[in-house]
Amino acid sequence: LVSRKKKPENTIVTLKGENIGDGKPHFVFGPCAVESYEQVATVAKTMKEKGLKLLRGGAYKPRTSPYDFQGLGVEGLKILKRVADEFDMAVISEIVNPADIEMAVDYIDVIQIGARNMQNFELLKAAGAVKKPVLLKRGIAATIEEFINAAEYIMAQGNGQIILCERGIRTYERATRNTLDISAVPILKQETHLPVFVDVTHSTGRRDLLLPCAKAAIAIGADGVMAEVHPDPAVALSDAQQQMDLNQFDNFYNELLASNFVR
Ligand code: PEP
Ligand code: MN
Repeated sequence: LVSRKKKPENTIVTLKGENIGDGKPHFVFGPCAVESYEQVATVAKTMKEKGLKLLRGGAYKPRTSPYDFQGLGVEGLKILKRVADEFDMAVISEIVNPADIEMAVDYIDVIQIGARNMQNFELLKAAGAVKKPVLLKRGIAATIEEFINAAEYIMAQGNGQIILCERGIRTYERATRNTLDISAVPILKQETHLPVFVDVTHSTGRRDLLLPCAKAAIAIGADGVMAEVHPDPAVALSDAQQQMDLNQFDNFYNELLASNFVR
C-alpha cells in the first residue's frame, strides 16, 4: 500500500494549513521532553514568531536507563494540548503503549512512533486503527525495507496518513550519536509515496552538525526537518547535550532560510 508503484502521486499530510509532501520543506521543533507548561510555551512562542506551526515534545520518553526521566505521561500530553491551542499549532508526540493510542488522539495531532518501537507491531496496528497522522521513525538498526514494512503495518489497518522519519542508524562510527543515512531519503521517496523527514538532532547528537545536516536533508529532497529546541538545554531532563537553546535556534532557522537549499 505504501509503494509508489501502486500510487504514483505523493501522499499529503495536512497539519494547520501546512501540506507535508507538497515538495516544500516543513519544520518540526520543540523540546526533547515536556518538562513544564512554561518550558513548552517558551519554545512555542519563539516558533510562533517565525510562523512555525509544528511543535514536538515527548510525554513518554523511551530512555536507555530506567533511572532517567521517563516523561510526564498524560500530564505532558495535556500541557502540549494547552500550548497547541494557545498558539494555534499542531503537536507531535511519541506514544509507546498501544493501549494509550486511543486516549492520546484527544490531545495530539500526530502520533510519533519512536525508533525503539519501529517494529512494535501491536503499536503499529493500534496507530493504524485511528484517524490521526503518524510520524514513524526508522529503527536504530532497521534496514530501509524493514522501515517500509513498518509503515505498511500502519497503512494495512486503514491509516494512510504517515510521515517517515530518518533519524540515524547505529554503525561503528562514534563521531556522531548515530549515522545519518542521507541516501535513505531519496530511496524512501522513490519506493514510497509518503513524506520523508530527517531528524537532525537524534541522528547527529551534535549541535554543530544540525545546520549542515538540515541543509543536506532539504537539498536531497526531504519533506521536512525535525530538531530539538529547549529554553535552557543545560538543565534539560533529557538530551541536554544536543538540544538548541533559543539563540542557537534563531541562528539555525535564519541560516537555513537564507541558504539556497530551502526550495
Ligand atoms: C524523540 O524524537 O523524542 C526520540 C526519542 O527519537 P528516536 O525515537 O528517534 O530516538
Ligand atoms: Mn531527544
